[in-house]
Amino acid sequence: MQTSFTPEQLADPHVAESEKILRRCVHCGFCTATCPTYVTLGNELDSPRGRIYLIKDMLENGRAADEEVVTHIDRCLSCLACVTTCPSGVDYMHLVDHARVHIEKTYRRPLMDRLIRDLLAAVLPYPARFRTAVVLAKLGRPFAPLLKRVSALRPLGAMLDLAPASIARPSDAATPGTRVPQAERRGRVAILSGCAQPVLDPGINEATLRLLSRLGIEVVVPEGEGCCGALVHHMGREEPALDFARRNVDVWIREIDNGGLDAIIITASGCGTTIEDYGHMLRLDPAYAEKAAKVSALARDITEYLSTLDLPKLEPKGLNVAYHSACSMQHGQKITLAPKNLLKAAGFTVRDPAEGHLCCGSAGTYNILQPEISAQLKARKVRNIEATKADVIATGNIGCITQIATGTAIPILHTVELLDWAYGGPEPQKLSVR
Ligand code: SF4
Ligand code: SF4
Repeated sequence: MQTSFTPEQLADPHVAESEKILRRCVHCGFCTATCPTYVTLGNELDSPRGRIYLIKDMLENGRAADEEVVTHIDRCLSCLACVTTCPSGVDYMHLVDHARVHIEKTYRRPLMDRLIRDLLAAVLPYPARFRTAVVLAKLGRPFAPLLKRVSALRPLGAMLDLAPASIARPSDAATPGTRVPQAERRGRVAILSGCAQPVLDPGINEATLRLLSRLGIEVVVPEGEGCCGALVHHMGREEPALDFARRNVDVWIREIDNGGLDAIIITASGCGTTIEDYGHMLRLDPAYAEKAAKVSALARDITEYLSTLDLPKLEPKGLNVAYHSACSMQHGQKITLAPKNLLKAAGFTVRDPAEGHLCCGSAGTYNILQPEISAQLKARKVRNIEATKADVIATGNIGCITQIATGTAIPILHTVELLDWAYGGPEPQKLSVR
């Protein structure tokens, strides 16, 4: 794609990077076929190619974002299916990240939109606040249908719908400290506790700690780590996102310096994609660029790490598992085979739902901010999963677990919960209550 940025514009490293990305696009349109919003809405401006044109036009003309750009960029899930599909290697992720920051800096959203976004940014990344919000949301649930009748309040209705019916007890899986392994020590890793996951489903990291302990891996839950920053990053809130990243980089570098780390284990693929991008996010910060790159290089999804540990092959279990690959897993981190191979080796029969490349509509806060499109994608995803006639669904991201669980009666678990059970851990509660 031809571009015509001025030398002054290109002096801005963010613009210079976007220009390089734009120039790789050859308008072929292959990406439209796998874009969930184009497949759902059929509008070119809701396709990757359409959005690339909108972003180019906005940046090249040095214009503030307008309502049209904001509408179509807001509808993008950042699922990155287009990145997987693109034959020219267009780095859409960093282009849309730049566009979202530009929107945040130059566009004044309607009052209710601003308030809802402020609320999400102030609550979701903080486990204590999020836990309180989940308790309150449970009480407010009966009002969800009422809120959904008013267009500007629909996100609040969607939020109440997503609140779990029961709230998990607080777990010590997120308590800082070192877990000495049960078996002879053969590795040392740090684990990300995260923000929403320990509140919504602490059983995921509990299963991870048990499994790694039996495999001889020492696990550190470092003091001071927090949200990876993805939630605010996807809202275009650059500074808070970078602050979250810097805080975690400091924490993990301290652990690397103190006892060494073989990996930083992440059990939510949405967080994994962001942490693997810390090196890029902080590349212009001389105090953090090198440290952030080091942290990104050590970040591993739990299934990626377990694949290096040669787990033994087990007898078939007679349990059919539909594997839902989160977008951040398959498109963001390009991890496609490891989770399925681990499940198969552990004795599960793995089934691939049709249209596995399409997002379930969760996408961070998307299911709150774009509830209509999200609901259509969820219904499509659930149809495809239920068609596999699976006994259980496995996936690697808490966002997908929360989203899909509200659409089907099939139990949905994190892949590591099934693996922990198969290799000697307790049966996951979601299965024992079937
Ligand atoms: S990130 Fe996903 S929703 Fe956004 S343009 Fe690409 S394929 Fe479409
Ligand atoms: S597939 Fe790649 S090169 Fe083709 S239109 Fe989409 S982004 Fe551009």
